[in-house]
This record gives sequence, structure tokens and C-alpha cells, in this order.
Amino acid sequence: ETEEQWRPFNKTRVYMSDLESALHYSLRVELASHLVISGEALIALRGYVSVLDKYFPGRPPVKNALKAVNDWLQKQEGTSINYSDFSKALDTTSADSYLPKAVRWVGCQGSKQHYRGYPCAMWTLFHTLTVQALETGSKDPQEVLQAMRRYVSSFFGCRPCAVHFETMAQESMDNVNSLRVAVLWLWSRHNRVNARLAGELSEDPHFPKVQWPPPDLCPACHSLKPSGEHTWVQDEVLAFLRNYYSAQHLLHDFLS
Ligand code: FAD
Repeated sequence: ETEEQWRPFNKTRVYMSDLESALHYSLRVELASHLVISGEALIALRGYVSVLDKYFPGRPPVKNALKAVNDWLQKQEGTSINYSDFSKALDTTSADSYLPKAVRWVGCQGSKQHYRGYPCAMWTLFHTLTVQALETGSKDPQEVLQAMRRYVSSFFGCRPCAVHFETMAQESMDNVNSLRVAVLWLWSRHNRVNARLAGELSEDPHFPKVQWPPPDLCPACHSLKPSGEHTWVQDEVLAFLRNYYSAQHLLHDFLS
């Protein structure tokens, strides 16, 4: 396959195809460069797959595959695992249990090959997971955020990104004491990253970095202080995120 086909998409929605593509890329491509996984990295992998098993709002076969991989990881008793064994567990499929084996970016398509894609889909995945943890009544406000923190720290291919994210995590992630605050914490840190990257060379000119959600997406999220300074209406932002990243609101177009 040479030129990728552009897939017209709705810029105001989240696509399951991006989430599944993020799973495929992280589990089969990003992790594959770690031939032996042990120590902190093994803790990170277990935490990541555990939150995917619990909160990924997937199609039944994808959920079954995540459960199978999590069960397999739980059964491993040694202090290290070989990626080749993990990979076999990932690819043990049946008619009702599989992880799609390709990337198909939709909402995360870039106007050029090197823009967007995986990093976009990882943000999307973790926002979705924080919202799912809230909606499904998880008891642990730290669980998804710490899983993300450890995954990024051990595996995320963009190393400057990992350093920046860890700095933000060290500043304030431990103070997150409710599932609502967890959703808002990730939203506000993502906006910090957006602010830092706005206008940089890495920015896709067709997808400029903005403070998100912009007023056209969520008018009620924005307000002005008496001084005229912009302020976020946090309750509205939370309500918006709970809908935007909810399982029921995901679009299933373009799935393989
Ligand atoms: P992204 O920022 O990837 O966002 C994806 C989608 O999420 C957007 O299209 C929008 O629909 C939605 N969204 C945007 N903002 C928010 C928000 N605040 N809350 C909820 N949803 C939102 N790149 C660097 O160059 N330097 C870095 O230090 C860096 N650190 C990163 C750290 C992490 C953990 C990750 C996952 C990525 C990082 N990146 C970094 C990549 C960068 O943040 C973008 O992912 C990439 O530039 C692609 O941008 P994008 O336009 O697709 O939008």
C-alpha cells in the first residue's frame, strides 16, 4: 500500500478506529522494541493492560482479547517476560477475541504522514479511559492516571514527551483525589501541552493547537471574570468531557 486514502471525518467526534489503532500500535509496535520487560517496565505494562481490560469501551471481541492478555499477564510469575511470549498471547485469537492488526487513523489523521496519528490517539485513549473509570464507578482515582504515567515513562517512543509528562505528574498527579478530578487533571495538563506546542514545527497546520474545547465546541465551558480575563467553567467542562469521551458517543465508522 502506498498512498493512504484520506477518510472524511467529523472533527467534533471520537472514533473507535483511533482507539483500536492506538492499542495495536502500542502493544505490537511500541512495546516490540523491548525484547525483555522487567522491573518498572513490567509494572507499567501490567498497569496499562489492567486498565485497558477494565475500562476500554471496546467491541466485544476486542474486550475479550484485552481480558485474555490481562489474564495471561497476571499468570506470569517471574520477574521478567519476553516480548515474544507477550506477542503470542496478543495474537491468540478466535472469532470472538481479537485485536485488529493495523492502524487506521480517522479523527487522528494528519494532513501529512508525519503529523498526528499515534500521539493524538494516545491522548484520546487516556481521556476515554479516565471518563470510563468515572462512569463505571471505579473506586481508585489514581488508577488510570498512574497507568498512563508509568506507560509513558517506560515505553512512549517520544522521549521528550515522556520527560515533560513526568514533570507535570510529579507536580500534582498525586493530589488527584476523585475520579472527577482525574478527568479534569488530564484535560488541564493536555491544554498545558497544547499551549506549549502551539506554533511549533510539529503542529499540523490543518489542526492548530488550541485551548480545548474551543467556544464553538462548548460555549458554556467559557466565561469571563469581571476583570475581563478568560476562565473555564469546570462543571461545564466536566459535563462536556463526560459526553464527548463517553462510550455511547464513540463513532464506529471505518473499523476493519
Ligand atoms: P492532540 O494534542 O494529540 O490531541 C488529540 C485530540 O484530543 C484533539 O484533536 C482534540 O480533539 C482532543 N483534545 C485536545 N486538547 C484536549 C484537552 N485538553 N482535553 C481533552 N481532549 C483534548 N509533543 C511534543 O512535541 N512535545 C511534547 O512534550 C509532547 N508531550 C506529549 C505527552 C503525551 C503524554 C502525549 C500523548 C503526547 C505528547 N506530545 C508532545 C504530542 C502532542 O501532544 C500531540 O499529540 C501531537 O502534536 C498531535 O497533535 P494533535 O493536533 O493531533 O492533537
